[in-house]
Amino acid sequence: MTLKNRIALTFTILTSLILALILCTVYYITSRYNRQEFLRRLYDRAEIAAQVVLEQDELNQRLLAEIRRKHLQTLTEEREFMLSLPYSRSDSPELPAFLNPEAIETLSKRGKIDFQDGRRLGVGIKYVDNQGTFAMFVTAFDQYGQAKLQNLARVILFVWLFYLFAVFFIGRWYGQRILRPIGELSRRMQTVNASNLHLRLPADGNPNDELHQLNSTFNRMLDRLAISVEAQKQFISNASHQLKNPLTAILGEVETALAAEDLPQEQKQTLNIIAEETRRLETLILQLLRLAQATGADHRDQFTTFRLDDVLFELAEELHTHPTGGHLKLDSSYFPEDSARLTIEGQRYLIKIALANILENALKFSGEEVEVALKVTDKHLLVCIIDHGIGIAPDDLSKIFAPFYRAQNARPLPGFGIGLSLAQKIVQMHDGKLEVESELGRGTAFRIFFPR
Ligand code: ADP
Repeated sequence: MTLKNRIALTFTILTSLILALILCTVYYITSRYNRQEFLRRLYDRAEIAAQVVLEQDELNQRLLAEIRRKHLQTLTEEREFMLSLPYSRSDSPELPAFLNPEAIETLSKRGKIDFQDGRRLGVGIKYVDNQGTFAMFVTAFDQYGQAKLQNLARVILFVWLFYLFAVFFIGRWYGQRILRPIGELSRRMQTVNASNLHLRLPADGNPNDELHQLNSTFNRMLDRLAISVEAQKQFISNASHQLKNPLTAILGEVETALAAEDLPQEQKQTLNIIAEETRRLETLILQLLRLAQATGADHRDQFTTFRLDDVLFELAEELHTHPTGGHLKLDSSYFPEDSARLTIEGQRYLIKIALANILENALKFSGEEVEVALKVTDKHLLVCIIDHGIGIAPDDLSKIFAPFYRAQNARPLPGFGIGLSLAQKIVQMHDGKLEVESELGRGTAFRIFFPR
């Protein structure tokens, strides 16, 4: 469940429980009040009924009966019953079902009583008259009050359900609003990598706001990362320069020694090996230097607009004859008529290095024809480099972009394991994407997407 739904649901459950409690209390208080009100009416009726029955004076009796008829509406299922006190089982008339001797006993002591008789409410009063002491009982069903209560229950249920839906949807909407900046933060975090550490989140607004603090913390973390990446880069750059100078000197000395005419064959061979290894070391240092350059800093200010097909034609010429016998076949059938569609923005020499690394690998690991195609899509310029060489094992596919990683089957061939890592960094730096597909022993296809 998404966080926004979880917030909305928790909020809805908690508040609707509170509301249910309040509404139930309102219902309970209203029903209590209704009952009291009805009992009060029943007491009045019992009083008047007793007077009507017991009043000797004919005139008064008629008057009371008239009042009762006019002003006291008959209640639903109303029943009256009168008996003289003290109650004796043998003398008194037979009791109706709702009365028992204990109730009469209580009434005699307290003077009045109320009770429930099924769905009817009942009251009893003690009435003292010149003819003696009597007990008058009245029971009736509070139809009007019950209807009112039922209506109230329906209204309460409707209000509660409406509240439930309204709060859930408002909660979701509000949760979405509150979480939007966090979504933005996570989206930005995903785009951060070593080649775009310059990215910063907007940290404006109220500085006490938790989201503002989160953005500032994230920005400070990026600052620290950028500083450490820059320091690392600087170190590699300095170390590479320091190593290059003595290597150049060694190579110079070896070449001078090799130029001597009377050099014995054995020494010549040794010097050639030294020269070869020194050149390898020089290449490694150069690649390390480029890797360091492509990592960390924002190069966008050095971007220019150039044609990608030009770069590919240059590479096709430069790499045409490879020592392994591999050669490039540039397929221009997909090139659009409008050459402006082949332009991209970036650092030309870095993009050339990235493509050269992938092309050299294809030539090196296949030793035969390598197909190169350039395609234009709506959003990208796509370079496809397909070889039919040794291929890459499925387990190695995810590892080959790590610096210095070389698959088992590639180890007999020369290399340092830096080329692909460098190519990937350069492509990422240009907001591009590098994809690889391969089958062991059958060949490899690299696809490089550059945004147009
Ligand atoms: P290097 O070529 O110096 O070994 P890279 O970084 O260029 O280093 O490549 C890393 C690894 O990826 C290679 O060692 C190899 O195992 C694998 N690889 C790259 N390109 C290919 C390819 N075209 N065919 C087969 N394996 C490849």
